[in-house]
Amino acid sequence: MATAVRTLQNFIDGEFVDPAEGQTEPILNPATGEVIAHAPLSTAVDVDRAVSAARGAFEEWANATPGERASALLKLADAIEENADEISDLEAANAGKPVAAFRGDEIPFMVDNLRFFAGATRCLEGRAAGEYVSGYTSIVRREPIGVIGQIAPWNYPLMMGVWKIGPALAAGNTVVLKPSETTPVSTLKLAELAAEIFPNGVLNVITGHGDPAGRSLVTHEQVDMVSLTGSVDTGKWIAGAAANTLKRVHLELGGKAPVVVFDDADLETALETIAGTGYYNAGQDCTAATRVLAGPKVHDDFVAGLVEQAAGFVVGDTFAPDTTLGPLNSARQRERVEGFLERRPAHAELATGGREPDLPGFFLEPTVVSGLRQDDEMIQREIFGPVITVQQFSDEAEAIAWANGTPYGLASSVWTRDIGRAMRVSKALRFGCVWVNDHIPLASEMPHGGFKQSGYGKDLSMYALEDYTEVKHVMVSLS
Ligand code: NAD
Repeated sequence: MATAVRTLQNFIDGEFVDPAEGQTEPILNPATGEVIAHAPLSTAVDVDRAVSAARGAFEEWANATPGERASALLKLADAIEENADEISDLEAANAGKPVAAFRGDEIPFMVDNLRFFAGATRCLEGRAAGEYVSGYTSIVRREPIGVIGQIAPWNYPLMMGVWKIGPALAAGNTVVLKPSETTPVSTLKLAELAAEIFPNGVLNVITGHGDPAGRSLVTHEQVDMVSLTGSVDTGKWIAGAAANTLKRVHLELGGKAPVVVFDDADLETALETIAGTGYYNAGQDCTAATRVLAGPKVHDDFVAGLVEQAAGFVVGDTFAPDTTLGPLNSARQRERVEGFLERRPAHAELATGGREPDLPGFFLEPTVVSGLRQDDEMIQREIFGPVITVQQFSDEAEAIAWANGTPYGLASSVWTRDIGRAMRVSKALRFGCVWVNDHIPLASEMPHGGFKQSGYGKDLSMYALEDYTEVKHVMVSLS
């Protein structure tokens, strides 16, 4: 689909405005390498304007009733649904997502997410009201934090934005949202929809790079909390920088999900699910099923089965309804993934893939690598591409030790028909999520977030809503 090249603007205080210093940069379609838009390269001046707008809007929005805030979020959910085709085309063109998958999976989930937070804010409550000291009544209030700086990645540009703004706005905060520099298009469409619904300044969107736009947001004195979905390195930098103003930090970072397949697993279901969720979004998913640990009796069949599954993916035109594998997000990201493959040790075996298909964009074939050892780079670091590794473990203890043996702790799965083993291993895994006999399904009601270096704070669920509030104790003398 041909998309007209547009010059985009920041969204500040209810209006679309050019960046203060007038600089823009080209935005590419990763499936073709063509320029589809030009986006503002925001600087500290734009960030300051957006933060001032959010600060100015805070009191009114914080004092709106939960019902009023819920009504706005429900309208935004409806607007996304009504504009789903256009949004899907924009996201396919900018993020290289197969349009059918985005339309079928991501749109309904983000709509559901906003509707969940609309309902949840009306049910938010303090935990206690009672007389804990004789002669006094104590009340616990949950109050909004203030201005939230939210920074999103490129792998799910709109969905990560929606996951962030949902709980923050529902709780009565105002927001300055920065999408990734490579994928701002759908987030600015979201701003256009929000312009009709929210009071000016409640939601602001500025585009640009981690430095200076992201950095200025993180270090701004009037920003009360920063929430990042991004890489571990960026998370560490933000946590350090936020220390200067002691602002709150909420970090959804990288992952390296282990998929522990025991010898008694339903192999057919496991293979289909793992290939489906390991290569989903071209493997650019923080929970992707890309680190398989297989039992000794199923290992060889598993590698062969994954090779077969990989051959079934339809790679190419993101607008074709049957395409199942899109490109990587950028030339840089493809080079990064290829670097892991080039540096693989001699004991590793490239079972399939690893090449660039003969296509114009930043595609890479679905790839399977076996024979890797626990301390190899491909096991220890997030690859973030269509590459599934398979290791063979000897027993349950080794499977658990290897599964836990990386710095990450976001998501994991266990495949077995033995309920006792499923329970034991789920308890032993140090991850924010453990699926049993599946991988990747999420629910708006359930928390999503990391252990260890995958970060802290939760997305989705009442836990996310609580993360965007402060607890206040009000103690009333009864005399
Ligand atoms: P990234 O860390 O490079 O960038 C993320 C965002 O941070 C971008 O908007 C970027 O401009 C901004 N940024 C970079 N440096 C910054 C700085 N110094 N100050 C402020 N902002 C800065 O990550 P990415 O490559 O865009 O995204 C991929 C990463 O995101 C992967 O590691 C992936 O696992 C992770 N991710 C995690 C989740 C989750 O829920 N845990 C979900 C999606 C993606």
